[in-house]
Amino acid sequence: MAGIYLHIPFCDTKCIYCDFYSITNHSKKAEFLNSIKKEIQFYSKQLADRKFNSIFFGGGTPSLLSYEEFTGIFDELYNCYDISADCEITIEANPGTLDKDKLDIFKKLPINRMSFGVQSFIDEELKFLTRIHTAEQAKSSINAAKAAGFDNVNLDVIFALPGQTMDSWKYNLDEAINLDTKHISAYSLIFEKGTMLYSMRDKGQVQNADIELEQEMYEYTMQTLANAGYKQYEISNYAKPGYECRHNLKYWTLEEYIAFGPSASSYIGNQRWTNIKNIGRYIELIDSGKPAHDFIETIDKETSVTEHIMLGLRSVGVNFEEFRRRHNIDFETAYSSPIETLITSGYAVKDAQSISLTRKGYAVCDEIVATLF
Ligand code: SF4
Repeated sequence: MAGIYLHIPFCDTKCIYCDFYSITNHSKKAEFLNSIKKEIQFYSKQLADRKFNSIFFGGGTPSLLSYEEFTGIFDELYNCYDISADCEITIEANPGTLDKDKLDIFKKLPINRMSFGVQSFIDEELKFLTRIHTAEQAKSSINAAKAAGFDNVNLDVIFALPGQTMDSWKYNLDEAINLDTKHISAYSLIFEKGTMLYSMRDKGQVQNADIELEQEMYEYTMQTLANAGYKQYEISNYAKPGYECRHNLKYWTLEEYIAFGPSASSYIGNQRWTNIKNIGRYIELIDSGKPAHDFIETIDKETSVTEHIMLGLRSVGVNFEEFRRRHNIDFETAYSSPIETLITSGYAVKDAQSISLTRKGYAVCDEIVATLF
């Protein structure tokens, strides 16, 4: 089954490390909401034969939308697409935008999964990241969401911040585990080009974390979350059994997804396209009945094979039967030499059905994929 992503680009402020398409000027919000509904309609005929079992509201800060704004979008989605009764419906929430009224609104909507951008449980680190919430607000928002009946909750945390010590990361991870959410995403801080953080480093105001410390933090994270009952199913993602994010798994297992909103990327058939990263232009294109594509690419067989291996190894592994079904290639025969190297080095384990990385393998995944395949 396929997934649906909606990009809601509005934020109250721009975080220094953020390279998502997000804007703090909300003046075009009403026009944007009209356009995204038109875009939802736009693909409905083309996708009439697809069934969808995940919807993900990302951003930006989708938790800024009102009840009426959400119901407008949901009505359009349910009118246009065949959505399964057990659809996983996630909303990304900024703890600084949530209160009891907002949670009551979410409970009235079909949302059944909440993903909190916490990033840190230390106020100085949150200030450095220019987050709009405190550690206490993050904790109380998550506890309030659970008390309101949201069982399936994720929280995001970031490690390898400039100046962060191993002790402060251990504290962050302990706080995350204490909240007992079903899912934790733990990312290392990336200095993305075009962000304020990137220019701060250019000006010598901040430095990357020491690479060995970052590695130590990553290994500590994998071990500690495993001890706490979280199964790692992607380089940065950990879930209690049965709570893997169905929507994100679609990205990593090359299933189809349609995405709406500026900067959103879709993958349908053998085509992948990304929408334009400009809200004004997005509205103009959609309102004139055109797709809002910035670029579109056709995924050829070779790219599809490489992506399958790369994304599979980064996440749940490569299933041999699935690989044969998609590409008509016997994975074990075609890649016998890299497989042997991975296994003898302790980077991967294999059974009759699939090969997947070990923790040691996850720690060097990008190098492995680049050199062996
Ligand atoms: S709240 Fe999220 S999307 Fe918005 S600026 Fe911060 S990191 Fe980016």
